[in-house]
Amino acid sequence: MTATIIEHTRQYIGGAWVNSTGEGVIEVRNPATEQVIAVVAKGTEDDADAAVAAAKAAQPAWARLSTSERATWLRRLQAAAAADRENLVRIIQDDVGCPTPLADHVQVGVPLANLGAFADLAETYPFDEQDTEGRWVRREPVGVVACITPWNFPLHQLVLKMAPALAAGCTVVLKPTEVTPLSALRLVELVDGIGLPPGVVNLVNGFGPVVGARLAGHPDTDMVSFTGSTAAGKRVAALAAGNVTRVALELGGKSPNIILDDADLEVAVRDGLAWCFVNSGQTCSALTRMIVPRDRLAEIEEIAARELREYRIGDPRKPGVNLGPLISDVQRERVRSYVDVAAAEGARLVACGTPADEQTGYFVPPAIFSDVTTDMRIAQEEIFGPVLAILPYDDEEQAVTIANDTVYGLAACVWSSDPDRAARVATRIRAGQVRINDGDRWPGAPFGGMKQSGLGREDGSHGLEEFLEIKAILLPKPTA
Ligand code: ADP
Repeated sequence: MTATIIEHTRQYIGGAWVNSTGEGVIEVRNPATEQVIAVVAKGTEDDADAAVAAAKAAQPAWARLSTSERATWLRRLQAAAAADRENLVRIIQDDVGCPTPLADHVQVGVPLANLGAFADLAETYPFDEQDTEGRWVRREPVGVVACITPWNFPLHQLVLKMAPALAAGCTVVLKPTEVTPLSALRLVELVDGIGLPPGVVNLVNGFGPVVGARLAGHPDTDMVSFTGSTAAGKRVAALAAGNVTRVALELGGKSPNIILDDADLEVAVRDGLAWCFVNSGQTCSALTRMIVPRDRLAEIEEIAARELREYRIGDPRKPGVNLGPLISDVQRERVRSYVDVAAAEGARLVACGTPADEQTGYFVPPAIFSDVTTDMRIAQEEIFGPVLAILPYDDEEQAVTIANDTVYGLAACVWSSDPDRAARVATRIRAGQVRINDGDRWPGAPFGGMKQSGLGREDGSHGLEEFLEIKAILLPKPTA
C-alpha cells in the first residue's frame, strides 16, 4: 500500500505561508513503514534571512504587551493544541514511530502542559524588581531567538524553547529537524489559526548546515536555543560566537544509573531498562550505563534478561508494543554497528530482545551487554538506540568515578535504600539532573547538561531565564 504524500512545502514567515526561495523538497518517511509520507521545503539562507527580519520587526511590539497578554496568547495556543490532540498524536506517531502511550502522554501531553505552565510563569515571574533602597533590576527579553530542534521528541523540544521565549517577550524563528518536521508544521498552523501577531512565530524548514547555520550566524539573531548532537551544537556555538550571540545548548548524554548494593534490585533494574529503552533508546537523557556492584552482577544480569523478555517490539500502533522502530535506516545501521563493536571490544551479550514480526520498519531488537569497562566505546559514545551497558564496580568510590568518566553530564540516577547515602552519591555526580530511586520529576524541574552535554537549562523558571537579559537601572540616591 502506498501512503498519500502530504505536500507541505511552504515556510511561515511574517504571519503568512510563503514559497521557499529555493527549489527541491525534503522527504519525510514513516520509520515503521519506510514510506515517504510528506515532503517539506528545502529552505535556503534567504528564507532564514526573511524569517529573522520578520521576527526582528515584530519583537518590540510583542515585548511591549503586558505579561498577562502574552500569557493569554499562550493559553489560546494551548487550547487550540488540546482540541487538536488526537491529530497531533497521529502526526508524531507517523513521524517518529513511537508507541501510542509515549506519543500521547509525553510527545504531546508534555508540550500541552508546558504551554500552560509558561503562561502561568509569565504572569508570576518577577521581571522587574526594585528594593526598598531603590535598587532596580529588570529582566528584559533577549530579542530574536532561533530555535533549532531534533527529531526524537520534536514537539516537546520545540515548545520547551518557543513557549518560554514568547513568555519572555522574544520572537522566534523555528528550525525544526528535517527528519520529523510535521508536528512543528501543525503547531504553526495552530499559531496561524489563533491569529498570533505576524512575525512573532516564524518557521523555516530545511537542512541544518544551510538554514540552521544561517540562523546561528545571523547578526540579527540575538540567541540560539539548540537541541541536538554535541557535534552540531559545537558548530552552532562557533557560528554564534562570531556575533557574540547567546547560546543555550541541550546536547548528548551517556547517563549513568548507579545501583548501590542496598537497593531493591528488582525495582532498580526494571526501571533502569525502561529509562534506557524509552523511545527505542533515542533519548538524550537515556540511562544507558547501569553501574552495579560486582558481587551482585549475576543477580542483576538475571533480572535484566528476564525483564527484557517483557518488551514487545513492532508496529507502534499495536496495543502492547513498547518499542517502535528507530528513526531511519542510517540510525539502524549505526546501532547495529555498535552491537558489533561491543562484542569485538570484549563486552558480553547478556540478552537480546525478540526481533519484530513486521516486514518493514527500521527495527532493532534491544540488547544488554555486561562486563563493560569505561575504555570501551559503548561506555563512552552516545548510541541513540536500545543498547544497555552494564559496568560492574567494587566500591562506592569507584561507582562514582565510573559514573563521571565521560565527556557528558546530562542526567543520572542513584538507587539505594539509604536516603543519606543516595543523596551523598547524587551530589557527587556531574550531571544536570540526578534522580534518586523513583524520584518525582516535578513540573518545571530544570533540565540540561554539564560538560559536553550543554549550556543552560530548560523548563520552569530556569528555562525562562535563558531568554532574559538582566538590566540594572541606577537611580540617584534619594535625598534625605
Ligand atoms: P539529531 O540527529 O539528533 O537530530 P543533529 O544535531 O544533526 O542531531 O540535528 C539537530 C538539529 O540541528 C536539526 O534541526 C538539524 O537540522 C540542525 N543542525 C544540524 N547541523 C547543523 C549546523 N551545522 N548548524 C545548525 N543547525 C544544524
